Amino acid sequence: MLPSELLDGIDLVAAGRALPQDRWFEVRNKTSGQVLARLPRMTAEDASAAVDEAAAALEPEPPLETRRAWLEAIAGLLQAHKSELARIITLEHGKPLKESAVEVEYTAGFFAFFARQMDRLKAEVLPEKLRNCRWTIHRRAAGVAGLITPWNFPLAMLGKKLAPALAAGCAAVIKPAAQTPLSTLAICGLARRAGVPDGRIRVVTGPAGPIGQVLCRHSAVRVISFTGSTEVGKLLAAQTAPHVKRLAMELGGNAPFIVFPDADPAAALDALMANKFRAGGQTCVCTNRVYVHESLAESFSRAVAERASRLKVGDGMDPTTDIGPLIDRAGFDKVAAHVADALRGGARRLAGDDPPRPENDWGAFYPPTVLTGVKPEMLVCREETFGPVVAISTFRDEDEVLEAANSTPFGLAAYLFTRDAGRAGRMIRRLRFGHVGLNTGTGPTPEAPFGGMKESGYGREGGVEGLMEYCETQVVAEG
Ligand code: NAP
Repeated sequence: MLPSELLDGIDLVAAGRALPQDRWFEVRNKTSGQVLARLPRMTAEDASAAVDEAAAALEPEPPLETRRAWLEAIAGLLQAHKSELARIITLEHGKPLKESAVEVEYTAGFFAFFARQMDRLKAEVLPEKLRNCRWTIHRRAAGVAGLITPWNFPLAMLGKKLAPALAAGCAAVIKPAAQTPLSTLAICGLARRAGVPDGRIRVVTGPAGPIGQVLCRHSAVRVISFTGSTEVGKLLAAQTAPHVKRLAMELGGNAPFIVFPDADPAAALDALMANKFRAGGQTCVCTNRVYVHESLAESFSRAVAERASRLKVGDGMDPTTDIGPLIDRAGFDKVAAHVADALRGGARRLAGDDPPRPENDWGAFYPPTVLTGVKPEMLVCREETFGPVVAISTFRDEDEVLEAANSTPFGLAAYLFTRDAGRAGRMIRRLRFGHVGLNTGTGPTPEAPFGGMKESGYGREGGVEGLMEYCETQVVAEG
């Protein structure tokens, strides 16, 4: 039943038990609807057992060199199995195979990067004798880490959490998204092959609410790292508040993409196409609002529409596909509602049409769509559309576009295109976004800290900061 040899023999906490039929859920191919796997709908008790097992696996703490070797081995295994992992991602998510391969490499980059950061976990002695004492600073493993991941990058969103958790000496209990749990199972199988002992990583599949509550309440879970919607992030923050846990929150975005009149329009166009349509527009860092200076708005919008119309929508397994299906019918409905709302409000559609609503939760294909005349009150501006829709507005000057860009509760990513260094500096300082692309549409990299401002969350992934999320600092003053 499982679609890959990488998934053979992966036992989840409850998978060995005989479960009645209604205790399993299906994972489907997002293009064809074919059932790829049946996985257990675990309960709160299963989640609690998983945390207990992870807590029991914390001691004895493996030496730093052992943990470094795990990370290096996992990075190597990810590279060695790149095409098979890419196939799993595409089957369960729907994105084009070429993008899935890039996702595998990106994920391997986190393991390789954190393997190189292990020395930062060594105890540090302050050079001065202070208060007549010798001071040593230790970075201790925080404990069990609860890792909750979304479906849009099923492998990478876990890799950026699991790599630093293992590096720090934590054990992990993972709740993958119900839509895409197979990538998680595959990487956990590779971690086992890399020598990570059973128990140090546990996967819990099933209804998110009860599993999430266990992770929030169980005293052995000391860190929760969550990537997903701001709505669920707020719920988790409330649920953990009485239990005082560390939280890293990577939440929703509403990225502006600003093109000034002094920009290189060809470079801006290329960057927008790559940034906007990756994963069919279903990424937290992808452009949601495009602001083009009024002097070039018409030519730029036409060029975007022309390029968008040429993108091929279809099965991600076909190497010529540029955009796969949306994750499900709810995703399709949201995109369709945003476009309909914009058209009702007076926007013009330069590319795209009204596709038929899918009959099922799969096969939710939506054509690349370009809208102009977009206004701030429209849904495409106020909320993440999470689909292949380019929503273009115009602006006259810096202050106007800065105010428009910042007028959102979110603050994850922003992009600006200008050749004027003074303007770039002024804008960047005042843009309230954790990631800013200047003359590039590129997203995060393992080596740099990534995360949001405002309601896009707190905590960072990648960079040294991403490692410290899984450490508790302990100071010893020795008299
Ligand atoms: P989501 O609905 O919030 O789900 C994310 C994860 O949380 C899934 O594993 C989900 O499980 C789980 N979950 C849902 N309700 C829960 C609860 N009550 N308690 C505990 N866990 C719960 O988000 P999504 O639709 O998968 O992902 C899209 C969102 O993620 C977008 O807003 C996007 O911007 C954001 N995102 C942010 C980043 C970033 O780095 N900032 C990166 C990627 C995505 P089920 O699947 O079982 O429901």
